[in-house]
Amino acid sequence: MIIILLGPPGAGKGTQAQRIESAKGLVQLSTGDMLRAAVAAKTEVGKKAKDFMDAGKLVTDEIVVGIIADRIEEEDCKNGFLLDGFPRTVQQAEALDNMLDQKNLRLDAVIEMQVDDEALVDRITGRYTCADCNQGYHDQNLKPKVGGVCDNCGSTNFKRRADDNRETVSARLEAYHAQTAPLLPYYEARGVLKKVDGMAGIDDVTAQISDVLSGLN
Ligand code: AMP
Repeated sequence: MIIILLGPPGAGKGTQAQRIESAKGLVQLSTGDMLRAAVAAKTEVGKKAKDFMDAGKLVTDEIVVGIIADRIEEEDCKNGFLLDGFPRTVQQAEALDNMLDQKNLRLDAVIEMQVDDEALVDRITGRYTCADCNQGYHDQNLKPKVGGVCDNCGSTNFKRRADDNRETVSARLEAYHAQTAPLLPYYEARGVLKKVDGMAGIDDVTAQISDVLSGLN
């Protein structure tokens, strides 16, 4: 099964992707996570991507398409994958179509997580993750069961993303509306677009997505 999670930054794509990954055995492919790893490791890709990311702008199509093209060749993608944060432009979507065509694969669904812009700033500025296992948390909406201890791995190390600040968020929202939102009619025209209410609680959104996935053949 090949699924795309589409929605603005802070819509909950990463949180839901982690849940679907464990429930359905689909590998989560997050271009944002891959780029952050490349920046941390100071690779050539990381050096090219860093300034765009710090400014809340999209990195070039060429970079992310290359990353995804390599990643989907790996063994763990054989049984399907869940794209989180890719594609983000029509050009990336076209490149993905070509990659899938060449491999004789079919895109099963694009799940749009609909969230009001006003909710996104609080969601983004309040979020953090476990530094060891990457489990996501939020200052108000999703606290660890025991304060300061990761539910998943017991770590007490947490981190926040450098670009999760108020200044960068507005640039990221602008990029979403200008460059990524055109993907909605693109996928609607192909009959694969499914919408879920991303304003609902986290468990409710997971249930909505599970319903969509169960309805696929
Ligand atoms: P994310 O973790 O998905 O919010 O991505 C963080 C940042 O990485 C974005 O603001 C972009 O700078 C960059 N990025 C991630 N995925 C893409 C993509 N598909 N196309 C272009 N830039 C991306």
